[in-house]
Amino acid sequence: MTTRYAARQPQLESLITTLGEPAYRARQLYEGLYRQRRPLDELTNIPRVLLARLADELPLAFTVDTMQLADDDTTAKWLWRAADGAQIETVLMRYSARATVCVSSQAGCAMGCTFCATGQAGFERHLSAGEIVEQVLRAQHASPQRVSNVVFMGMGEPLANTEAVLDACTRLHDDLGLSARHLTVSTVGMVPGIERLTEFELPVTLAVSLHAPDDALREQLVPLNRRYPLAAVLDAARAYAERKGRRVSFEYACIDGVNDLPHQADALAGRLTGFRGGAHVNLIPLNDTAGYPGRPSDGRRIAAFADRLRAGGVEATVRRNRGTAIDAACGQLRSRTP
Ligand code: SF4
Repeated sequence: MTTRYAARQPQLESLITTLGEPAYRARQLYEGLYRQRRPLDELTNIPRVLLARLADELPLAFTVDTMQLADDDTTAKWLWRAADGAQIETVLMRYSARATVCVSSQAGCAMGCTFCATGQAGFERHLSAGEIVEQVLRAQHASPQRVSNVVFMGMGEPLANTEAVLDACTRLHDDLGLSARHLTVSTVGMVPGIERLTEFELPVTLAVSLHAPDDALREQLVPLNRRYPLAAVLDAARAYAERKGRRVSFEYACIDGVNDLPHQADALAGRLTGFRGGAHVNLIPLNDTAGYPGRPSDGRRIAAFADRLRAGGVEATVRRNRGTAIDAACGQLRSRTP
């Protein structure tokens, strides 16, 4: 049995035919679920008896374990549970006129980044494209603002589950009408995945998590660096920027006294040369997690780091973490049974 948002338009059509219903019902179903982004039981142009049958034929992939709110209720985090028991998290961030959803691409993560709650917990399984699309639509159902942006920055390394993530991007673009530029695929440096993304037809935004300006430190924070060293990651990112004509962004979690020193800013700026459209670094204070002793850098240190990057010709933005009160910030997502 396919789940509700794993079913694409042709499957919805054949289901409607199997149920002995007229073909236009499939169009109503598709338009309601994807174009209008409404929950199944709110599709009032479809008879209630048929809605009940469709609910049985197209079950949701996830049930809600918990939902928490923070930041004056503008940030929401769901802990979902799949039928096989896998738990994943999704975060909705609402702004005045739009909303962003941060989705998980895997239950757990095998990358083992030392400062990350998900990495500390280990890998469970990949998510399917339908499970990724379901996260976006169910967050949309809770948001008065239209979801305009989706970031693959929740649990998991998206480019370790590349085909499902690209399939989900295609569906978010084609079925929900999201702009490719508003889909951000992040990676800690899976070079083959970046190369695959370079061949992908949609010009999605690539975000590379760096966290260190040199291999020695990066290997300590991001073990994948042993397989794909910084130079190889940056070469793949440069090729992406060149092919797509898009600026690549870099994420950098600032850890007090570990990666936030002035000479490290200079070294980072020195490495981020030769990017079409320039390079842009997002500086984020580290999120505290129980399994890592490092502390977040203070605001002044981060501002000074940003100034040195700019002096070196690299754009830098200091980001505030949303959702830290509910462990919904980057690197803090980790399924836990309450
Ligand atoms: S930072 Fe990302 S890639 Fe690294 S362990 Fe956490 S979820 Fe996985």
